[in-house]
Amino acid sequence: MSHKPARRSFLRGRFTRSNVMRPPGALTPDDFAETCTKCDACIKACPEAIIFHDEDGLPKVDLAKGECTFCGVCASVCEPEAILPASGWNWRAKPTSSCLNLQGITCRTCEDQCEQRAIRFRPQLNGRADITFDSDSCIGCGACAAACPAGAVAFHQVTPQHSEEKPC
Ligand code: SF4
Ligand code: SF4
Ligand code: SF4
Repeated sequence: MSHKPARRSFLRGRFTRSNVMRPPGALTPDDFAETCTKCDACIKACPEAIIFHDEDGLPKVDLAKGECTFCGVCASVCEPEAILPASGWNWRAKPTSSCLNLQGITCRTCEDQCEQRAIRFRPQLNGRADITFDSDSCIGCGACAAACPAGAVAFHQVTPQHSEEKPC
């Protein structure tokens, strides 16, 4: 592997956002920015067409456009090894206040898409439903986000510890 030290990025004054969703298996934010040559191979190879450029020309994943199957194709075409083989990542889905159920409109689209059965609804007395995403079960695949008609699914990164995510 030819990972350059992240310190170099810092010394150049290069700002690397740590909350950008890179392809699964991507190096740490600074190392990724240093190692990626912006060749676009991963963007062209992703069978789900969910990798796009960020404002710096680096690849980022947009799960609103489709589901990541963790197929590993992006890693396999990345010659500089800015992306390494990985079977998953630490992104997890969470609902936002745009969820239709919070406005009294019944919707179960995300639940129908979730093979991990990580999404739960709890009916409330006012006819609305409380939605929760279980970060223990969620694998961050994005199937729910791509299907949500209200764009109400967001993603956050977790450490090995977890929590149940309620609308933000
Ligand atoms: S793992 Fe597969 S589906 Fe996911 S971003 Fe990489 S190439 Fe696309
Ligand atoms: S294949 Fe690797 S080097 Fe090329 S754009 Fe994607 S992450 Fe960067
Ligand atoms: S990201 Fe995937 S596993 Fe997580 S709640 Fe959505 S559909 Fe389920």
